[in-house]
Amino acid sequence: MDNAHWNDFALGIGCPMDAPRPRSTDDWDFVAELTASSLYLATNQTYRGHCQLIFDRRHVARVDQLSPEEWQAMAADLFRAQAAIVEAVRPDHMNIETLGNIVPHLHWHIVPRYRTDPRWGAPIWLTSLADMKVTRLPPAERDGLIHDLRAALASGV
Ligand SMILES: [Zn+2]
Repeated sequence: MDNAHWNDFALGIGCPMDAPRPRSTDDWDFVAELTASSLYLATNQTYRGHCQLIFDRRHVARVDQLSPEEWQAMAADLFRAQAAIVEAVRPDHMNIETLGNIVPHLHWHIVPRYRTDPRWGAPIWLTSLADMKVTRLPPAERDGLIHDLRAALASGV
């Protein structure tokens, strides 16, 4: 997928993950249709059992763009899919990731992790933790942010 098209994809223009989508591509093979989403087995199986769960009902880029009903259905699908993958591959751990940095259509990477895998103890994506920039807020700004988050939660946002 090509980052040059990200803005169009985010608006749902030419989005390659909109349904109906091919059952097999270079990136995945269809596994099952769930309530609000479909499950695909990733082509790259460095992490055996790595699947993508893609929202089917319409184009959305992020969880916050779902209705409450859609979110409940998608969350239930994620629960089912993860349980099925755990049953299928018996991993040591599971990572659940929704990124959308290449294709901004709501999907989850469900990534079984193994003590023997090449990045055990770290995310599978890109840089190691030691390579990531560290940013710390001044205490007052940090306290203000915590206050704002709590206020937003209390207001039901
Ligand atoms: Zn889409």
